[in-house]
Amino acid sequence: MAGQSTRRVTRPPRHLADLDPAGRRAAAAELGCEPFRGDQLARHYFARLTDESGDMTDLPAGIRDGLAQALLPKLLTGVHEASSDGGTTHKTLWRAVDGALVESVLMRYPDRVTMCVSSQAGCGMACPFCATGQAGLTRNLSAAEIVGQVFAGAQALARGRIPGGPGRISNVVFMGMGEPLANYQAVLTAVRRLSDPVPQGLGISQRSLTVSTVGLVPAMRRLAGEGLTARLALSLHAPDDELRDELVPVNRRWKVASALEAAFGYASTTGRRVSIEYALISGINDQPWRARALASLLAGELAHVNLIPLNPTPGSRWTASTPAATRAFVEVLQAGRVPVTIRDTRGRDIDGACGQLAADAASSGLALAQA
Ligand code: SAH
Repeated sequence: MAGQSTRRVTRPPRHLADLDPAGRRAAAAELGCEPFRGDQLARHYFARLTDESGDMTDLPAGIRDGLAQALLPKLLTGVHEASSDGGTTHKTLWRAVDGALVESVLMRYPDRVTMCVSSQAGCGMACPFCATGQAGLTRNLSAAEIVGQVFAGAQALARGRIPGGPGRISNVVFMGMGEPLANYQAVLTAVRRLSDPVPQGLGISQRSLTVSTVGLVPAMRRLAGEGLTARLALSLHAPDDELRDELVPVNRRWKVASALEAAFGYASTTGRRVSIEYALISGINDQPWRARALASLLAGELAHVNLIPLNPTPGSRWTASTPAATRAFVEVLQAGRVPVTIRDTRGRDIDGACGQLAADAASSGLALAQA
């Protein structure tokens, strides 16, 4: 089995979830079947949540396997699972057909189920506090590889495999591994497929999807023009360019002011309040003066701040802000009338929390051992 350094980057095979309804019909026709077979397959995948040809008894036996092999190839194989919070937080490490490793996390709450998905294997953005950023980019995921992570969660819920009884995915956040807007087309297709009504897609309200970005300004502007109602999150982490250049290196290219301008532009075009992500790092970005600077940047804008207690990554010298510093930061924002929430830290104990997703050497070793 090839090691990471020699792994070849390949394009994953085409899958039903990459295609819109017209594309699926055309693909069925290309395979010598009636076009409506594409719709039937979509019903199995998106409505019945199965990709096993044996379940598809409404398809003639002679074409069932061929169609499923061609349009529902197994793109992701679960190679490791970890649970916490009584099984209601569930992380999966997936191996793609070329060996690339990605992770997704399902989090069940009393009133909703959120899936955190990866958009790339690895990440090229190199944010020094983020576990994924340390390893660099392996490759972009295809739309179907992104949708497939949600499909798996939806299937596990529907089949009652997550404690709490059968359920549905209500929210998806593109906050796993990777920079979604550096994989623009696949992420856009995935957003459409996740939100297309069943059985064209998974039927999750677009308003419940969040695309999170380091601030790739041209892509943010382009996204604003796609006619979406999905939420945009901007990972700001500092209100000043000097510190943000260090924490989010892409800031050297697109500064705080232009990233915010693009975020506010998205908010005004879509009517969706933009979420400003801010990981509180003790003594680094949590000073009251930075809270005041942040409040004045956001005053009167359609934005809210989501504070994330830093999840220290292995080898990092940074730690999470103290409760007192966090409280003081929150109070400054509130005094400036900026809405603020504090992100919960589900899955910390299974390395499933924000910024901890990294297919590290240990998990790769496990993956390869089980391959
Ligand atoms: N690349 C995208 C999405 C991936 S990460 C982005 O940067 O927005 C999702 C969020 O987790 C981002 O806000 C990211 O900055 C944050 N994050 C990364 N590492 C973290 C860590 N160690 N502790 C807390 N938050 C972290």
